[in-house]
Amino acid sequence: MLDLTSDLLKTKYCDSLTAYSRRKTRVVDIGGVPMGGDNPIRVQSMTTVDTMDTKGSVEQCIRMIESGCEYIRITAPSLKEAENLGKIRKELELKGYKTPLIADIHFTPNAAELAAKLVQKVRVNPGNYADKKRFENIEYTDITYQAELNRIRERFEPLVKICKEYGTAMRIGTNHGSLSDRILSRYGDTPLGMVESALEFIRICEDMNYYNLVISMKASNTQVMVQAYRLLVQKLEEEKLQPYPLHLGVTEAGEGEDGRVKSAVGIGTLLEDGLGDTVRVSLTEDPEFEAPVAKMLIDRYTNRKEHKEIKPVEVSPINPFQYFRRNTNEVLNIGNSNVPRVIMDFSRVENVQVEDLKNIGHFYLPLLDKWNMNDLGSDFIYTGDQPISFMLPNGLKEILNYSSWKTHEDQLHKFPLLTGDEYLEQSGKLHGNLNFIKVNYKHMHEAFYTKVKNDPTAVLILTTTNLHAMAALRRLFFYLIENEVKAPVIIQRQFENMPEEQLQLYASTDVGGLLVDGLGDGILLSTELNKFSDRTSQLNLLKSMNSLSFGILQAARTRMSKTEYISCPSCGRTLFDLQETTAMIRKRTDHLKGIKIGIMGCIVNGPGEMADADYGYVGVGKDKIALYRGQNVVKKAVPSDKAVDELIELIREDGKWLEAILSE
Ligand code: SF4
Repeated sequence: MLDLTSDLLKTKYCDSLTAYSRRKTRVVDIGGVPMGGDNPIRVQSMTTVDTMDTKGSVEQCIRMIESGCEYIRITAPSLKEAENLGKIRKELELKGYKTPLIADIHFTPNAAELAAKLVQKVRVNPGNYADKKRFENIEYTDITYQAELNRIRERFEPLVKICKEYGTAMRIGTNHGSLSDRILSRYGDTPLGMVESALEFIRICEDMNYYNLVISMKASNTQVMVQAYRLLVQKLEEEKLQPYPLHLGVTEAGEGEDGRVKSAVGIGTLLEDGLGDTVRVSLTEDPEFEAPVAKMLIDRYTNRKEHKEIKPVEVSPINPFQYFRRNTNEVLNIGNSNVPRVIMDFSRVENVQVEDLKNIGHFYLPLLDKWNMNDLGSDFIYTGDQPISFMLPNGLKEILNYSSWKTHEDQLHKFPLLTGDEYLEQSGKLHGNLNFIKVNYKHMHEAFYTKVKNDPTAVLILTTTNLHAMAALRRLFFYLIENEVKAPVIIQRQFENMPEEQLQLYASTDVGGLLVDGLGDGILLSTELNKFSDRTSQLNLLKSMNSLSFGILQAARTRMSKTEYISCPSCGRTLFDLQETTAMIRKRTDHLKGIKIGIMGCIVNGPGEMADADYGYVGVGKDKIALYRGQNVVKKAVPSDKAVDELIELIREDGKWLEAILSE
């Protein structure tokens, strides 16, 4: 039995796990655009052109403002860029744009001190404001640790004084990939280390009565990121520090669908629980593409309070600060230690043909009379009442509605899906190994728990129509955990009448938000197909949904099926075309499985930011690239026209290279 009295489980990081409520935060004024409190959740982004290019920066800022940015961050790596921020601000104001500017600072307190006099906010990274990374694990005693803190205070106090004097706001922005040696040695590379890194700076600010702070806890690993923000909220409360507004972001999320899905999993999960006062989506694309994504994520909560009531949770039965997968039975290949499964909904496709399955990763090769499967081969296909008429490949199993399954001649290779009511009432034959049962809130009662607990073939498909869907589904998981039901669970979300990009973000938030907490053994996404009259468009949409399903599992770090690219969004420090390079590396490597490749614009922050990548491609100067294996540099200054080949050579040396198989 779970110990629901454990102190850990009683700790809170949000107002409610069931009733949507935005966390009450302190209002921080940033150049006349206040953040926190009841102000709207703000959208922001960062420029990518060289900060010394005043005209280019101003033009990019205007494009960003017009795409919805309410604050704009610009890198200031040294004094001369910090000084130029003043010019950029002046030029923008002359053109009638008053959007507050934020100086982004790493390693250079003097640039921060100058920028704090010229723009409305400075961002400092507590991992490198007063520390240079030496990748050393130094043993600190309490005395030497305190001496380090005193040293930080000396470096940091002048900036706080200037911010107070000029009314400048500050973000204390911790990044998972750039924690100081001091923090790493005491707390490790953990969410707690990230939080402590910020707290060291927050305490100094509060000692000096400076409260114009915003805090962030970014990571490219969504589980770490979500845990760190939650822990931050909890620690601020525990230490009776102010409830500072939160800036949400997933670092180095990447580009295209992967970048959007990963951002939604991390940022959306926190927004669902009412955390977050500003959002920056980091994509390896032009920055004007970021604000619309952030806005779409945020706008979802405008009327969220009006959702149907969900029974409150007295004590959460899961640990929100550490990943544990819910303990489940293994039913065929679902649950327990199996990777979460992907079920594709073909119930609205008429007369499924052999070649249709290539859209969900299964290819029939007629000459060889054999099936091939790629990395995005779905595990199950749900066909409702329209059974498939041909033999399916081994790796793909079919699910039919119970009424159709009961009358089908092949009841061994096809599996039934029962409604919760059918399951409770039925007395007829079921499959001997695996039965899917679709349940919602009304099935959460004693008779159901008893029956399902005694059924080793049951896999539940959890569904809800509640507007506050992630919380409603999480509540269903809590009922199951509290009642010791160990049946694996497939999370179902159904989306109708929405553009594909919105569906992508909503599905990633709702399903990803559960997966990052170890809840869920599979995913089933459904959408209307009949809006398309032609079959090709229907199948294209199913292809996108299949890719989205695998993308969500990967972004929540629960099933790695494709190469992961941890690419920075680039900024004024980048000396090569990061978008083009990312596309080139991707083209040559995206058939590899489960490898993480970091593609970073600069040597200053790149190696730290790509944290847990297996390989790194990092700009070190004009047309010069350093290649990394994990955290170690293995080639220092490779000419950029040879660097991708050398990177592939490195992967080959490690025995991780595969030749691409053309499946079409
Ligand atoms: S890693 Fe990329 S975004 Fe970060 S500072 Fe370097 S170039 Fe800029």
